Amino acid sequence: MKDGYFIELTYLLASVLFVFGLKGLSNPKTARRGMNLAAAGMLAAIVGTLLHHEILSYELIIIGMIIGSLIGAAMSIWMPMTAMPQRTALSHAFGALAASLVGISEYYRHAVDLGETLPAYKMTALGFEVLFGSLTVTGSLIAFAKLQEMMRGTPFTYKGQNIINISLFALAAGIFIYLIFVPTASSLFYVMVGLSFLFGVLLVMPIGSADMPVVMSLMNSYAGLASAATGFAIGNNVLIIAGTLDGFSGFILSILMCRAMNRSITNVLFGAFGAPATDTGALIEGVMREVAPDDVAVQLAYARQVVFVPGYGMATAQAQHAVRELADVLEHRGVIVKYAIHPVAGRMPGHMNVLLAEANVPYSSLYEMEQINPEMNATDVAVVIGANDVVNPDARDNPKSPIAGMPIIEVDRAQSVVVLKRGKGKGFSGLENPLFYKTNTGMLYGDAKSSLTRLAQAVQQT
Ligand code: NAP
Repeated sequence: MKDGYFIELTYLLASVLFVFGLKGLSNPKTARRGMNLAAAGMLAAIVGTLLHHEILSYELIIIGMIIGSLIGAAMSIWMPMTAMPQRTALSHAFGALAASLVGISEYYRHAVDLGETLPAYKMTALGFEVLFGSLTVTGSLIAFAKLQEMMRGTPFTYKGQNIINISLFALAAGIFIYLIFVPTASSLFYVMVGLSFLFGVLLVMPIGSADMPVVMSLMNSYAGLASAATGFAIGNNVLIIAGTLDGFSGFILSILMCRAMNRSITNVLFGAFGAPATDTGALIEGVMREVAPDDVAVQLAYARQVVFVPGYGMATAQAQHAVRELADVLEHRGVIVKYAIHPVAGRMPGHMNVLLAEANVPYSSLYEMEQINPEMNATDVAVVIGANDVVNPDARDNPKSPIAGMPIIEVDRAQSVVVLKRGKGKGFSGLENPLFYKTNTGMLYGDAKSSLTRLAQAVQQT
């Protein structure tokens, strides 16, 4: 009995630490502390679980922990920062697989092995766990394969796709409801598991790889809900609390990401975004003007204020250190340097913040879109580093554009704009960008990292 109290106490402590950890993650300044608190919470939960008398084999748990730790360490050591989205997709797949397996084994133990008739509440929890867990496993694996370019990243679509997907899910959900009333129908249980795995594949195949971060955040939410259901099924409070926190924070994150792209969740899930664009009515006028690094260096060296706008290209070029070096050279000359961060720049939430933090760019130099836009008129040079969609003025000016209404960083209002990109490649949306054709825009072609290094050298010699 005493042990029971102690275990519940560790679970309570773990839950409180998870809540404070999550709160810490809402701000870059407190994020590291938040991570540590959440990790301490996980330790408390593990200690509590290991004290549980129902544990049959400590040896198997230790072997599992060693294998898991080795996989986790290998993933974090060898996967580069740019592969963070697919790393997260794999983690979700593992987490969801664990939840599904617990659900399947619990069902097997009670309904098949012991021949018990599962009470409705337990069958509901188990069914929910297995349904959401299984679709998250295959959905996350497809997301991983698309992001890792192991399969085509463009949407895979065919006629009647949404109807087939919805019917499949309805069939799986129908079996789930039937099982609540007839829990002994074990073969139907396994059919439901198979349908859920299949549904995960079919749900994610039509979604373009660039929308994967939103999908993964949703999958995260499903995996959390599956864990919460596991908690109900096996009577574990910390799983219920942690799963619910995970489920709802993932859902809120998905909504915030969609809002920043001015799209709805249904458009992300069923819109097949990323397919070649048709008539977008892009307002293209003028010609692209190429500029030389030496000319840009003079502009930068004599500017009062320079704003860097990083995007996905900075991540692929791994140019964050080179940006910092150029900023140092400019600041040394008395130029005010600011970084404008668009909420969906790059391919995952906080992508730019993480990279710039890695290069020791101070947080006080990072400005959110709402803070920097009013300063654009007073900016001498806006340097766009591998960003495209997040600075596309069509989103603001052209109601026919697929990204119409998406808030942008309004670099076109600066005195002068320099765009660093390799060539005429489009952004994630696949749309033309009229910014590149404006008279106050110069194009500096080349890999962002080498362009920035050349600029820093040229500014030093100015
Ligand atoms: P973007 O629109 O995808 O454009 C990236 C640009 O970088 C490309 O035009 C490319 O042009 C250039 N580039 C690529 N590699 C480069 C390199 N090595 N050096 C220099 N330039 C390079 O990027 P963004 O402006 O950051 O916009 C992000 C997009 O992703 C938005 O549409 C957003 O809605 C979407 N999205 C974001 C998230 C998120 O959570 N952040 C999630 C889902 C979707 P070149 O090929 O010519 O070099």
